Amino acid sequence: MLHLEFNSDSENEGIARIVTAAYIMKFDPDMEEMDDIKTAVSEAVTNCIVHAYHDPDGKISMDLSDQNGILRIEIKDQGIGIPDVKKAMEPMFTTKPEEERTGMGFSFMEAFMDQVEVISKQGEGTTVIMTK
Ligand code: ATP
Ligand code: MG
Repeated sequence: MLHLEFNSDSENEGIARIVTAAYIMKFDPDMEEMDDIKTAVSEAVTNCIVHAYHDPDGKISMDLSDQNGILRIEIKDQGIGIPDVKKAMEPMFTTKPEEERTGMGFSFMEAFMDQVEVISKQGEGTTVIMTK
């Protein structure tokens, strides 16, 4: 298991991707799997940075683990939370259309990973658990 905690700063999104790429080497992924997993992580971490917190001091954690050959990624924030997870996960749903968000982040995570689970509570934060 690898546990990482970092600030809600856009610089750290790239670092989360690189750490993920290094961690998944042991699964011997092909190039497509590598890109898919890195993209899913990038979308989940970006969501914490742009939606969960209003400042770059918020904490984001990322846990990577190998569960009998299945990759499990948990990305967690303690930010504003999501009032309606089902609605938030619909393709093209965004609460930030003015910032040129397309509302496709969760759709990409679902397309690129085998399973995506989102647990969220308003005012407490959001946890995204993805497996592949
Ligand atoms: P895109 O990912 O295409 O740039 P987006 O981030 O708006 O756009 P999604 O990633 O699918 O689209 O997320 C949908 C909506 O869910 C967001 O607009 C936001 O309201 C909410 N959301 C997602 N992640 C979080 C989070 N970690 N904390 C609070 N709200 C979130
Ligand atoms: Mg997004």
